[in-house]
Amino acid sequence: VSHALVDLAITNATIVTVDALDTVVPDGTVLVHDGAISYVGLPISFQAARTIDAGGGIVLPGLVNAHTHLAMTLFRGLADDVDLAGFLGRLVPAEAAVLSPATVAVGTRLALAELLRGGTTTALDMYFFPEAAHEVAVAAGFRLHSGPVFVEYDGPDAMPFPDRVRWACALAPQPFGIGSACWLEPHSTYLLSQDQLREIKALADETGARVHIHAAETRTELDLVRERHGRTPVQLLADVGLLGPRTVIAHGVHLDAADCALLAATGTSVTHCPASNQKLASGIAPVAELVEAGANVALGTDGAASANDLDVWFALRLAGYTQKVRHGAATLPAAALVRLATMGGARALGIDHLVGSVEVGKRADLVVLDGSSPSLTPVYDPVSALAYAAGRADVRWVVVDGRVVVDDRVLTTIDIEGAVAAARGVRTEVLAAIP
Ligand SMILES: [Zn+2]
Repeated sequence: VSHALVDLAITNATIVTVDALDTVVPDGTVLVHDGAISYVGLPISFQAARTIDAGGGIVLPGLVNAHTHLAMTLFRGLADDVDLAGFLGRLVPAEAAVLSPATVAVGTRLALAELLRGGTTTALDMYFFPEAAHEVAVAAGFRLHSGPVFVEYDGPDAMPFPDRVRWACALAPQPFGIGSACWLEPHSTYLLSQDQLREIKALADETGARVHIHAAETRTELDLVRERHGRTPVQLLADVGLLGPRTVIAHGVHLDAADCALLAATGTSVTHCPASNQKLASGIAPVAELVEAGANVALGTDGAASANDLDVWFALRLAGYTQKVRHGAATLPAAALVRLATMGGARALGIDHLVGSVEVGKRADLVVLDGSSPSLTPVYDPVSALAYAAGRADVRWVVVDGRVVVDDRVLTTIDIEGAVAAARGVRTEVLAAIP
């Protein structure tokens, strides 16, 4: 194999590959060409258009945020210290007042700046005006997965349900973002009727789209769904045919043993959002039980209005800590936690053959941490450093699809000052619209 001239080389790195064997390469080199990883291993001779000396820092796969509402960065801190019902009571009027394709673009740009600077390269987004978010993500070089959202009321985008179906039909055949699949995103089993859910299932079958939906987030939701549909959200999703390897449910906080077994048996992925679940006092998801049952688990931040940031590192650590308190310190060890934030997310999104690990042939979504970070010194086990000590402040370089999008901590694809100023402008609109 010749590495005569490659686009990018990263040298002097400790590579945590997250491959099937959890291989770690001390003092390694990664080569990138045409957006793909062409070499991972011990130092070799090469010629590269650009070389990044990692200075002994850790290289890892880009993190995956597998449940979020990106443009809700606009409402960060608008409703704190209340439960989900209190939160929605304040949020929904704000959304109705200011949401448009333009403001969604503003909120999404801010979110992508936050995600990229923190080492997250892929997100599964669910929000209104996804076309606007998609445009922003393409410009930012971010791997965004998203699609049309379904609610039974008209929504802040003022679209009755039948129009949403027609809209989704038109959108679904188009890939949505860099290497993205098509997604249909019904909000939840409490904001849609059974007939509507069945219609979305038929549309997913017709178009081959993947499905993302909230399920079993709060006790109130379970009561609502029992009242409306006479069963649990997961049972209902099974009955309408919406569980399966192409479906990702967000939260899965209140699951009984039968729900866990159903999710595992159908190959449904669950995105665990511990920061949102704990801040809203929704509960603690049975993550250890899901993993034990064989279900695929990914990590998400939820929207920045509920959580209140988009920090996947924090989600990773919180996921580990809460399960350890429940089941003992050996539960979800470091390697398992790092896997949730990388390969778990990639598998949930159906792109584990493309990203989620540092392996030859995969797309080059890479994060390089600061080799002289005090909180990452000394390192006895780089996987432990990632799970229990690393954070967004340690991220120095980020590569998505072979493109350097964070260069020595500076965003190369987003004008951060413009993004911040625009978001402050929307804050003024929000304050004018709601008391
Ligand atoms: Zn959510």
